[in-house]
Formats: sequence, C-alpha cells, structure tokens
Amino acid sequence: MDGSKGPKRPPVLILLGPPGAGKGTQARMLSERFGFIQLSTGDLLRAAVVAGTDAGKRAKSVMEAGGLVSDNIVLAILADRLAEPDCANGVILDGVPRTTAQAKALDTLLANAGQSIDAALALEVDDVEMVVRIAGRFTCGACGEGYHDSFKAPKVEGVCDCCGAQDMKRRADDKAETVMARLDAYHAETAPLISYYEQRGVLWRIRAMGDIDEIAAKITGVVAAITA
Ligand SMILES: [Zn+2]
Repeated sequence: MDGSKGPKRPPVLILLGPPGAGKGTQARMLSERFGFIQLSTGDLLRAAVVAGTDAGKRAKSVMEAGGLVSDNIVLAILADRLAEPDCANGVILDGVPRTTAQAKALDTLLANAGQSIDAALALEVDDVEMVVRIAGRFTCGACGEGYHDSFKAPKVEGVCDCCGAQDMKRRADDKAETVMARLDAYHAETAPLISYYEQRGVLWRIRAMGDIDEIAAKITGVVAAITA
C-alpha cells in the first residue's frame, strides 16, 4: 500500500448494478476516459478458452460438460488477465466477483500482486421506476421505431407514427413480473457483496436513475478522486 516506491499500481474497480441500470454504458465511458480495461466474466472465459491457457482449458472442459465454471478457475483466468500489459492503466470488473467467497479470494489474489480493490461502484436504481421504465417499452414491428407507454406513446394508439403500421411488439423479457424477478435476483445476489465492500470502506453508492451524462459525471468524479 506504499505509494512512494515504484510505479503507481493500476486501479481496480468493481461495477455493480442491476440489468437496465446502464452498467455497460458507464463502463465504456470509464474505459474511454481513463483507459481502463473492462473485464466481464463472459469475456474473460471466452478469451481464455481461445488463448488455450491452462485455466482456459479447464474452463473449456467444464463448459463442454455443461457445468458451471468454478470460482477457482474464474479467478485463475482473472489473475492471468490482470498481468497482461493492457491492464496497466487499471481495470473495471463486471460480473466478478459474484459472491463474497469470490470477493475474498480476489482480495488475496490482488494482494499477492501488490494491488487491492480501489472502489466498488454500486449503481442504485429505484425498482418500481425501473419496472415502469422497462415494462413500458414497445417497438413497431415494421420499422423498428421505439415507443413507451408513459414517455413516448404513438399519436394514435397501436399505430406507428413513422410508418403507419399496426404491428406493435413487446419483448417477453420486458414484462413487469420478469423485470421485477430480475431485480429481486440481483438484490439477493449482490447485497452480501455490497456489505462486504462497505465494511472495507471502498463502496460508493451512485444513484443511477437520472440522465446518463449526469450519472457519468458522478462516477467520473469518484474515480478521479480515488485515482488521483
Ligand atoms: Zn413503424
């Protein structure tokens, strides 16, 4: 933890947030602004399998057998990846750690490399508002124009403003019950991680309901402060 000797160690950030909170957008913004590399579990696994590393080969055989890749394998892949030169500006982890057991193992792994989690950024949403926002979406099946029950209803109900077609489509995934179930699952899975990082004093709660640029400004402010 002594910053006075050697090169500055690259920051490690964790981005937490439910589906629909704009996590991907914010992660891209941070990558562009600070040169961080975004590492998601899926991307890590795919890349390791393609590269044929030891951990990648283990992951491949588990996935081919239809199993779930274990924490140990995911962390071994992450350790390999963090050592690559493009991670020297810092990384944003997305989807890993998933459990407090993984979080503890990750802390050990980082400590061995002289690193630690600099910030866990938790994008916070208003669940009810999220359901209204997502469940209200529909699109014209003919031209693809997007609409919303509350924010952008067509001038004539059921008729597309752009092309006049009467073929509005709603995604099954956008149903209110489905959205609510996704949010519940997110909270159940993430609550232990949030308290884990809160206890370590690295948790930042970011309200993620407003304008995308405003949310980005809040996140940028936090990241600029902790990496200064
Ligand atoms: Zn249309």
